[in-house]
Amino acid sequence: MLTLDTPVQFLKGVGQHRADLLSRLGIATARDLLYHVPFRYLDATTVMPIGRARSAPTGTDVTVVGRVVSTAVIPTRRRLRVFQCVLDDATGLIECGWPGRPFLERQITKGSLLLATGPIRHFHGRQLQPREWIVLGGEDEAVPEAGVVLPVYHATEGLTVRQIRRLVAQHLPALLPLVREELPPAWRERAGVMPLPGALALLHQPQGPGVAEQGRRRLAFEELVLLQLVLARARWLARRSRAGIRFENRRDLTTKLRAALPFELTGAQKRCLKEIVADMTAPLRMHRLLQGDVGSGKTVVALFAMLLAAENDFQAALMAPTEILAEQHAATLSRLLAPLGVVPELLLGRFAAGEKAEIRARLRTGMSRLVVGTHALIQEDVTFSRLGLAVIDEQHRFGVAQRALLAQKNAEEGPDVLLLSATPIPRTLALAVYGDLDVSKLDELPPGRGSVTTSIREGRARPKVYDFIRGEVRAGRQAYVVYPVIDETEKMDLKAATKMAKLLAEEVFPDCAVGLVHGRLTPDEKDRVMRRFRQGEVQILVATTVIEVGIDVPNATVMVIEHPERFGLAQLHQLRGRIGRGGAESYCILLPGEGGARERLARFAETQDGFRIAELDLAERGHGELVGARQSGLVGLRYADFALDADLLDLAHHIARETIAADPTLGSRELRPVVAEIGRRFERGLELFRAIPG
Ligand code: ADP
Ligand code: MG
Repeated sequence: MLTLDTPVQFLKGVGQHRADLLSRLGIATARDLLYHVPFRYLDATTVMPIGRARSAPTGTDVTVVGRVVSTAVIPTRRRLRVFQCVLDDATGLIECGWPGRPFLERQITKGSLLLATGPIRHFHGRQLQPREWIVLGGEDEAVPEAGVVLPVYHATEGLTVRQIRRLVAQHLPALLPLVREELPPAWRERAGVMPLPGALALLHQPQGPGVAEQGRRRLAFEELVLLQLVLARARWLARRSRAGIRFENRRDLTTKLRAALPFELTGAQKRCLKEIVADMTAPLRMHRLLQGDVGSGKTVVALFAMLLAAENDFQAALMAPTEILAEQHAATLSRLLAPLGVVPELLLGRFAAGEKAEIRARLRTGMSRLVVGTHALIQEDVTFSRLGLAVIDEQHRFGVAQRALLAQKNAEEGPDVLLLSATPIPRTLALAVYGDLDVSKLDELPPGRGSVTTSIREGRARPKVYDFIRGEVRAGRQAYVVYPVIDETEKMDLKAATKMAKLLAEEVFPDCAVGLVHGRLTPDEKDRVMRRFRQGEVQILVATTVIEVGIDVPNATVMVIEHPERFGLAQLHQLRGRIGRGGAESYCILLPGEGGARERLARFAETQDGFRIAELDLAERGHGELVGARQSGLVGLRYADFALDADLLDLAHHIARETIAADPTLGSRELRPVVAEIGRRFERGLELFRAIPG
């Protein structure tokens, strides 16, 4: 009996050989075949008679269907070979040409029926240069009626799009009635999406252009809501797996710090702090992400949380990904805590063994309550007397396991966890990427920051740009020159950056101290150069993208970025965040190469809003590039698209949180099909929803 779980091999017209080919496309069962939906469509609803297409003006887009009567590969002067064929329908002949694609000779053969869409061009006469094309069939294939939307499926060698299309069309009538709706109607209603069987029918056989989109949204919603349920459940378990610490708001050290601060907290800082304090004083463990653009003042917020732990006689640890960042944090904390008479501990890997032993002893006995450090903090020999809060800066630079290790330093009580991130991502995406976390957002910069003016200059303005840098350096300021070495293992790129540093040091700025930092340096070497820059011994720092995200050199007021077109917008924003950190006006100067797209750079130059830029970046590159997207499972999404489905994602997140709060194991009868689907899609998905004892 046919079910959706029937292996494809047993479907009519498949057999062992084809089943093997289909498995390459991830299709093992009848259900998989149904879910193998087209990735695009050819709108051949308005086919033009060839006789008319021939006389269409140059540049017009046309769609024609005709029999291939001859093919040829012809060379051109520019050593570009062109595949050409002549199409024939009852009304006339037309030549089609594909410059640079001679290999099409094997795919488009004489006698086959071809659909081609594209502009009419002039190339030794009139020619249709197809943007899209599809072989509709061989000699036996009849010319289709006008008005078809052709689904285009992912295919594989040995199994063409056309064969897959036929296979799906053949089995769709028998398979669709087997499809059961698994989402509760109320969810579907809120999302405004159609039932599953209808969606699949639309996707495979849309009646007109554009309607398949409704089907896609349905599958996208299902995918998002299932993922969000898994994340919400993971969060639920994480918060309950161990009882948390219930801190008391004693208003002792925290109140003293507030009184001693040399500045007023921003509104955003106050709001985030409130959210953190609420978590820390509640019985459940905190698992919160504090997200804020560079310079938004995350460290101070973290410090308040650390003091709340300390005034409850717990210890608090702040872990940073590099020594220089850890040192910087320790310096900031020391400065702010000086009026309170509290001295934070600093633990770095490079300290002498004896010194480290002393620090460890102070942590073990509880003599030190606040500690800042690197990975050195999670070494086995480090123990705390009573760790109450683990803060992790630049959290994405640590693996999930490393982050967990710090919190495990107090296995009995389960310390609260606060993660810091300077990577602004759109809100809805944050929900998805960090669906198992609570998110606080610092969306306001402290006042009194010098603004950053961003400008785009052409190559010939280079001498002027250098003069400008010289002027700033003479005035006592510092500058970055960033060179794009996207892949630090690329010798060519590195050579260019090194050459540039040499040129600047020897010829352009012989009277300044120029330093170079790149990804091939050891961490120690990198730290040394960065430290010299921070101390003002190096005035101009030539750097690849490795400049530390959190590095704070308020005296640096200029950043020149070479080849900015090679960077993503979010990355440019991170780089630009290194300047404008003091009171002085700062300048970011972009020097794009020939043909580097000016328009997107202009959009970047216009705004300093990290979240806005994150959205532009998302639209440009998709979510796959985003920090955290890979770990969160977002990259595995097949149907959802973040540029299009932000609303669905938001809703899926809400539904998931509500549902898990009301029914943590999804045990209700109505949700059984949902759980079954989660089990099908997520490895160990069912385990996650098994009721836990107690
Ligand atoms: P982030 O880590 O978010 O990039 P930091 O915590 O390093 O930012 O803060 C950047 C600088 O701004 C630090 O020197 C810090 O002391 C200062 N700062 C933080 N909050 C405020 C505020 N509310 N007003 C003025 N300066 C602030
Ligand atoms: Mg920071």
